[in-house]
Amino acid sequence: MLSDEELDRYARHLVLREVGGPGQAKIRAAKVLVVGAGGLGSPVALYLAAAGVGRLGLVDDDAVSLSNLQRQILFKTADVGRPKVEAGREALAGLNPHVAVDIHNVRLTEANAMALIGAYDIVADGSDNFATRFLVNDACFFAKKPLVSAAVTEFEGQLATYKGHLPGFPCYRCLFAEPPPPNTVRSCSETGVLGAAAGVMGALQALEVLKEIAGLGTGLAGRILTYRALSAEFRTARLPKDPACPLCGTAPTISQAPGHG
Ligand SMILES: [Zn+2]
Repeated sequence: MLSDEELDRYARHLVLREVGGPGQAKIRAAKVLVVGAGGLGSPVALYLAAAGVGRLGLVDDDAVSLSNLQRQILFKTADVGRPKVEAGREALAGLNPHVAVDIHNVRLTEANAMALIGAYDIVADGSDNFATRFLVNDACFFAKKPLVSAAVTEFEGQLATYKGHLPGFPCYRCLFAEPPPPNTVRSCSETGVLGAAAGVMGALQALEVLKEIAGLGTGLAGRILTYRALSAEFRTARLPKDPACPLCGTAPTISQAPGHG
């Protein structure tokens, strides 16, 4: 049962016929892991906390820097130099004290990925590098957890939901089989990113997480959404499962969970 304070706090959710009390109860019971407390993870964590997700995990081993504040709206100027997860937990607790925030001041690695992801129902990946994206995808596949994954660079964003553990739904490796060779991809610090474009993608990512939790509408599993900020265009394309996928295809070559190989 929701308390009087919660009934008031979530009033705009509760009047939505598609959400209502049962939807809000699902949101409160949900445990979401947010990988990367950056330009995407910031709006994701803020919207999920505001929405009343019962347990949020934050994974990031970085400290807040001044150049983060242009897009990482979870942090304040006074947070510069602090561990991101600590400053993030404080901001989220201030926004909604009903949300339990677990902080993981570590880099996601092959050794810890399965344990971290296994403790949550759904994962939102907003990490800034391909090694982590592939690791999160593989761990989610073996842990059978839905993955809502967003990326943003310069003026463009991408968003999809991966459920490769289910028949008919793709994983991230159905889109890209292998990570690109190191040093062939320029990082966000080299290419730049418009802060508000990261905000758009992070807000969409939080929304898709909430849709998965509350069973609302049609999710982005099997589709990919792209956003071009400069032309103000959204496109959604079908993303089928690849039978040749090395992870979720018919003859997979990756047969063991990360850290168990
Ligand atoms: Zn796949």
